[in-house]
Amino acid sequence: MLVKTLEILNPPVISDKDNLTIAFKKINERGIGRIIIANPKVEGILSTRDLLSIFLSFCTNGCTQGDLYKLSTVEASQYMTSPVTVITENADTLEAITLMVTRNFGSLVVINEQGIPSGIITERELLLEFQDLDPLFPVYHFMTKKVSTIDQHTDLTTATKQMLRRGFRRLPVVDEDKNVLGIITAADSIKSAAKSVTKLDPDIFFAKTVKDIMRTPLVVIEEDRSINEAASMMIEKSIGSLVILDDAGKIKGIITERDLLIALHYQIHLSYVGKLKT
Ligand code: AMP
Repeated sequence: MLVKTLEILNPPVISDKDNLTIAFKKINERGIGRIIIANPKVEGILSTRDLLSIFLSFCTNGCTQGDLYKLSTVEASQYMTSPVTVITENADTLEAITLMVTRNFGSLVVINEQGIPSGIITERELLLEFQDLDPLFPVYHFMTKKVSTIDQHTDLTTATKQMLRRGFRRLPVVDEDKNVLGIITAADSIKSAAKSVTKLDPDIFFAKTVKDIMRTPLVVIEEDRSINEAASMMIEKSIGSLVILDDAGKIKGIITERDLLIALHYQIHLSYVGKLKT
């Protein structure tokens, strides 16, 4: 399958002269989790993680309207990651999967023959590849078994910092007895941050607790179901993770689109090696 059959067209692009406030506005509008900086060729990229770190670094000691205003005076290009690893529209998706897994990228910018960004592919689009694969592996092979959770009354700033520090994009939310209530994601944090920046209102982010923005109910899967089923549940429900519960209803594991991409890479290479041997 070719990359062009999977790419999201009309990628979220801003110019190298645009400021950080525009980057926040665009990431919120498109909901793809990253912004490409191009002029017209690709020059850099800003991820949800990057923008959340920038946002918190402008507001280290509380946050004022003035701190948020400063974001509009800084060019996004000063903070972007550059150079960007790209892939061409006619490349095979296997090449894209291998690049994303081995380089630990959550997305790849797709360029056309002129070197101009034509699209973007993220982990979510690649999950469609599971439709053509045999259900070989159960969820428990690829889920993470030691899950970090967050108390519902924690403020959004602490929860966001925890996700950034630990390098993942979600935290199941629990009550005092560790019963699961919902989930909070980096995508939820960036939405509040973007609203706070564009409306110049620190409270939209800094006055919130996890409970205010968590999503409910939590979508669960049994650990003995196949990863193919996990992929189709994520696609169908437009979510990036599923939680595994034990018999007492407490969290036992989490499987995310990142884990499924790694599983996909493993399974495709396994079948390739199998064909070489026969
Ligand atoms: P993510 O960036 O959220 O897709 O996750 C990256 C990796 O961290 C994957 O292996 C996940 O299984 C794992 N992970 C995600 N969220 C959590 C969490 N709250 N606690 C522990 N591991 C997690």
